Amino acid sequence: MTELAYLAAIDDAYVRQFQARVVALPPGGIVLDRTYFYPTGGGQPSDRGTLGVPGRARLEVVDVTKSGPSVVHRIRPGAAGRTDLRVGEQVEGEIDWERRHRHMRLHTAQHFVSGRLFSRTGRRTRRANFSGVRAVLELDGPLDDGVLSTLVEDIRAAVSPPRPITVRHLPRAEWDRHPLSERSGLVPLPPQVDPVRVVEIDGYDVCPCGGTHLRSTGEIGEVVFERPAPLGDGGSRLVFTLGPEPGGAPPS
Ligand SMILES: [Zn+2]
Repeated sequence: MTELAYLAAIDDAYVRQFQARVVALPPGGIVLDRTYFYPTGGGQPSDRGTLGVPGRARLEVVDVTKSGPSVVHRIRPGAAGRTDLRVGEQVEGEIDWERRHRHMRLHTAQHFVSGRLFSRTGRRTRRANFSGVRAVLELDGPLDDGVLSTLVEDIRAAVSPPRPITVRHLPRAEWDRHPLSERSGLVPLPPQVDPVRVVEIDGYDVCPCGGTHLRSTGEIGEVVFERPAPLGDGGSRLVFTLGPEPGGAPPS
């Protein structure tokens, strides 16, 4: 079993280097007792980075996946050095921060956009995914082009002055009564999820999520929308990209 160390508090998403112990070595992969590497899920691609023991060659992590209660760090095929590792050994992990922070900006911007769309138009987000510098949202109804300029203004107002973003673990009954549970209710939470990890953008949005998020809206920067495209089933697709990183983001 792997402890998902990036989940507990918002600042845990800013840990780039960590120590952990090897608990299993499946073919091509490494399982640790704890990890800050995000495994693919919830529309967010996995992290990349390296794992290594001081004084020995570092191993390149090319993919990270969940396998039951474990997280498997997949190592570049053919990499020398993996066979040196032993179960029980301590390793150091280092996350590719540029890639991870981009995913955090996209994911937090998506929560913001989905929250504003719900309160302004009643449209709910069926699914969302991120890769590279692009977020793709699928909404449950048509979207008028006119809403985009309002969204851009909403983002500007929320980015400066910046608003804090927090992670809370709410008792399930409390979340089910929350006025914003409706906004993300298209994807029902499995009944056993209790407490519910919610990501809150101060004054704007609350949404259950297991992803890694920014701690301040100021790190979102500029969001550029493409025209919404209708889908055959009455829904619509909304795509946005990110402007340059706003002044860099100092890690903790
Ligand atoms: Zn999310």
